[in-house]
Amino acid sequence: MITTDGLKKYYTMGDVEVRALNGVSIQIEKGEFVGLMGPSGSGKSTLLHMIGLLDRPTSGGIFIDDKDVNSLSDEQRTMFRLNKLGYVFQDYALIPELTVLENVCLCSMVRGEDILDYTTKGMNILNIIGLSERTGHLQRELSGGQQQRVAIARAMVSRPDILFADEPCANLDSVNSRMVLDLCKKINTEMNQTIVMVSHEDWHREYFDKVIYLKDGVVDSIIEM
Ligand code: ADP
Ligand code: ADP
Repeated sequence: MITTDGLKKYYTMGDVEVRALNGVSIQIEKGEFVGLMGPSGSGKSTLLHMIGLLDRPTSGGIFIDDKDVNSLSDEQRTMFRLNKLGYVFQDYALIPELTVLENVCLCSMVRGEDILDYTTKGMNILNIIGLSERTGHLQRELSGGQQQRVAIARAMVSRPDILFADEPCANLDSVNSRMVLDLCKKINTEMNQTIVMVSHEDWHREYFDKVIYLKDGVVDSIIEM
């Protein structure tokens, strides 16, 4: 489903070149829950940004469902992201003035879709995610774990082919982290959702089907769990 071939990403800062990715070749299958792990600065976020089409590589191939996504124009990449990819970040990025349901349905609201359609879809996903009792609440009325679950519901409402998560538990205590990881495992197994998650917590490994370890911008090892 996702293949990279000799992926490189170099950043230039003044006259210093940072080789964030230096030839990464990986494969992620449909329905896999994959952890990207490794020390700080090893290139995990950069790799997620490349395969999530949030940034372009310096060189090397990226194929999603056999499509060479590097060859897409910026506009085509935007459409690809909207139609096929979902994202969760460590800071939730919810809008504080909107309710849980409105946050989940925001994209559909902005696109002018039918209100009954998207409300139904939003309620369905909030049911699956276990937040159907909280649809009218505001962000400040929720725990960190609940906020992150709303962010996951928002990413899932469009039924993305791939869900990308960049350290979604970074701001959560272990109880809330478990809630978020249990939820990810549930949507992975029950909805066959492909998930790629950056993590640096060893105990998260038990949730993953496969761990890709990065070190200094290259693959250190790949472990099937
Ligand atoms: P990780 O997610 O494993 O902590 P990152 O992918 O964030 O690693 O970073 C890999 C390396 O690339 C680090 O040395 C980081 O400082 C550098 N880096 C990441 N993003 C940028 C950027 N936008 N500009 C310059 N250097 C960057
Ligand atoms: P993470 O916790 O995901 O590793 P970082 O703190 O490494 O995140 O990076 C956060 C953001 O800053 C990312 O968008 C990354 O591209 C950018 N970044 C990381 N390192 C640098 C750097 N040395 N110079 C400029 N931007 C950077």
